Amino acid sequence: LFVALEGGDGAGKSTQATLLCRALEADGHTVVRTREPGGTPIGEALRSLVLEHGHGEIDARTEALMFAASRAAHVHQVILPALRRGDVVVCDRYIDSSVAYQGAGRGLGTAPVLDVNLWATEGLRPDLTVLLDVDPAEGRSRRTAGAAPEDRLESEPDGFHASIRAAFLDLARLAPERYLVLNASGAPEELHAAILGALPRVSA
Ligand code: C5P
Repeated sequence: LFVALEGGDGAGKSTQATLLCRALEADGHTVVRTREPGGTPIGEALRSLVLEHGHGEIDARTEALMFAASRAAHVHQVILPALRRGDVVVCDRYIDSSVAYQGAGRGLGTAPVLDVNLWATEGLRPDLTVLLDVDPAEGRSRRTAGAAPEDRLESEPDGFHASIRAAFLDLARLAPERYLVLNASGAPEELHAAILGALPRVSA
């Protein structure tokens, strides 16, 4: 079972990943929790490069290819081996983040970014993608509360985050059977219960 958590900055993905992994482990599953960009030594190195340099120094295509390269390593070194062992994989961000941030946010176009990423991953899609849909203004205030030092997108205008939000929602509309869309402003425990409730539909 492969579950991805997606959503804008400040949506609460890490909190939900923690709660979900804990519940799955309590249920006897072996869980591999991972994140993107990152997840492997090469992926973490690419993450630091992209986050340190930001888009002033890295053009949008290079950035998109770096995320895709990080993802290819992640899929082949971590996710596929775990799925073959029968483990559950919970991943904080996956292809949809690239489609939303680089495709919509940076204006590269969602279709080409999706294509590059399907190539990088040999078409591996999550069984379930949980989209924590967050209003950009609310995400912004939550981010400042949790203040990630590497958050280079803090200064982007709300329009940038609004286009990202719309792209995430479009992806979910295209394949509703693989998505659970939740309003991220809900209480963490309620969101957690909704995510657990969606698992049987994809793990059968
Ligand atoms: O997952 P996390 O929120 O830590 O992501 C780190 C940063 O990378 C965030 O600012 C996020 O918006 C950005 N990001 C991006 N493109 C992606 C994935 C993440 O710009 N494909």
